[in-house]
Amino acid sequence: MAERATHRQVIIVGSGPAGYTAALYTARANLQPLMIGGYQAGGQLMLTSDVENYPGYPKGVQGPEMMQDFREQVERFGAEVLDVDATEVDFSKRPFTVVTADETYTAESIIVATGAAAKWLDVPGEELLRGRGVSACATCDGFFFRDRRIVVVGGGDTALEEALFLTRYAQTVSVIHRRDTLRASKLLQQRARNNPKIDFIWNSVVEAIEGEDKVTGVRLRNLVSGERRTLTTEGVFVAIGHQPNTEIFRGQLDLDALGYVCMPDPATTYTNIPGVFAAGDVRDHRYRQAVTAAGDGCKAAIDAERWLEEQGIAEPDREFEVYSEPEFAARSR
Ligand code: NAP
Repeated sequence: MAERATHRQVIIVGSGPAGYTAALYTARANLQPLMIGGYQAGGQLMLTSDVENYPGYPKGVQGPEMMQDFREQVERFGAEVLDVDATEVDFSKRPFTVVTADETYTAESIIVATGAAAKWLDVPGEELLRGRGVSACATCDGFFFRDRRIVVVGGGDTALEEALFLTRYAQTVSVIHRRDTLRASKLLQQRARNNPKIDFIWNSVVEAIEGEDKVTGVRLRNLVSGERRTLTTEGVFVAIGHQPNTEIFRGQLDLDALGYVCMPDPATTYTNIPGVFAAGDVRDHRYRQAVTAAGDGCKAAIDAERWLEEQGIAEPDREFEVYSEPEFAARSR
C-alpha cells in the first residue's frame, strides 16, 4: 500500500455533512483532501434515527446510513478519511499543522468542520432512549410526535423555539425549567405564554427518563419543595444549549463568547487566519441543519480552492474550467 502523504493542499477536520461536502468538492477539484474525521466520525447525525428533511431521500434515511452514503461518495473521488481525532493544531504559520495520536500532518489550507454537540442532561434513561423519544432537535424529530404529549427541557431561546415549533405536531408541550424565570428573549416568552398548547413546569429538574424501548415518562424533582413525581410523556426534547467542538482551536482561531468560530465576513467561510476556513455548526448556531451544514461545506471548499489558486499553490482544475457562452454552446452541440 502506498504511504499516506503527510503534506496536503487541504486538510478537513471533522466529518459531519459540512466536512464530507467540503471533502467531496475539494476531491473533485483534484486537491486530494485528507479528512481527519474523528474516532466517532459522522457527527450529530450518528445519534439521529430517521432523517426526513434532507433532500434526495424521498423515503427518509437513518442518520448513520446517510453518513455512510456521504463517506462512500467522497471516497469514490479519492478523498482520504481517517477515523482519528485531531488532538492539536498550529495555525500560527504555513504550512499549518494538525496532530493526531500517531502522525503530524501539514497542509496549505484547512477546513474546520468539527460541528457542535447538543448538551445532554446526563440522567438515567437519556442515552438508552435517544432516538426513541429523546431528541435534541425539534426540526429533525418533531414530525414523529403528532398528537403526542411531550416535554421540552430548558429555559433559553432554543427551548422556547423548539417548544413553539413542536406545537405544530404535539397535543401539548410542557416546558420544564429549573428556575421560575426564563432566559429566553421577551418576544419568544410572549409567544410561548400565549400558545394554548404550551404550559410551564417551574423550578423543576428531570432526574430520570423512564421507558424501556420508548419514552413513557420523566421523573421530576421540584427544587423548591423537594417534591418528586412522574409526568407521563412520549417525547423529551432536551434544549439546554449546544457546545461547539472548538477546544483544540482555542488560542489558534478567534472564537466568540460561546466558543463558536468567529467569521469576519459571514457571507464567506473565511476565518481570521487566511487559509483556514470554517463550515457548518462550528460557526453557525442559528440554523444547525444537515443541509445548511452541507451547503457551508461546499462554500468552504470553493473558498479554499480559490484561495489556494490565488496563492499560486493549486492549479485551476481542467475539469471545472469555465467556458465562455459560445465555447460552451460549441462543446454542447
Ligand atoms: P442558553 O441560552 O444557554 O439556555 C440554556 C437553558 O438551559 C437555560 O435556560 C439553562 O437554565 C438551561 N440549562 C442549562 N443546563 C441545564 C441543565 N443541566 N439542566 C436543566 N436546565 C439546564 O442556550 P440556548 O437556548 O441554546 O441559546 C444559545 C444561544 O443561541 C443564546 O445566545 C441564544 O440567545 C441564541 N439563540 C437565539 C435564537 C434566536 O434568536 N431565535 C434561537 C436559539 C438560540 P438557566 O436559565 O437556569 O441557566
